[in-house]
Amino acid sequence: MDMNQFSCKATGNGTPPGHNGHEHPVALTLLSFGEPVVVGAFLCYHTADPIAVTVSFSTSTRVPIDWVFARDLLAEGMVASAGKGDIRIRPSDQEDRLVMFHLETPSGSADFSANRDQLDGFLKCTAELVPFGHEAKWLDIDSSITRLLADE
Ligand SMILES: [Zn+2]
Repeated sequence: MDMNQFSCKATGNGTPPGHNGHEHPVALTLLSFGEPVVVGAFLCYHTADPIAVTVSFSTSTRVPIDWVFARDLLAEGMVASAGKGDIRIRPSDQEDRLVMFHLETPSGSADFSANRDQLDGFLKCTAELVPFGHEAKWLDIDSSITRLLADE
């Protein structure tokens, strides 16, 4: 199987001009299937979709390959329970350095823990591309491009 298919979709081909993406490697610990298993993954961010982040698994066939959720949800989940839908993120009750993820899918649910420092590092990387609160500027760029194309 081609490993390239596991890199984040958002940073793949077809990047709109003027946009930029970032892939940040993380280790996630899968807690749902007996013994904890460390799974290599990437956290991805792209200015073309500035409100979203993607978790992309580099291995494992038992979980979805990509999850997409709001960058704000990740930032909130670092400090308090966040999310009430398919993806919930919260600090660990037991260990300050861990952040817990709960994922619901049609085929079941999965729980992961992630290292807080790695998540922090990722959020800092994304903030260098698009500071928190400035997402709308990038969305506006997109709609301007769309308008330009529509005028042709
Ligand atoms: Zn990074």
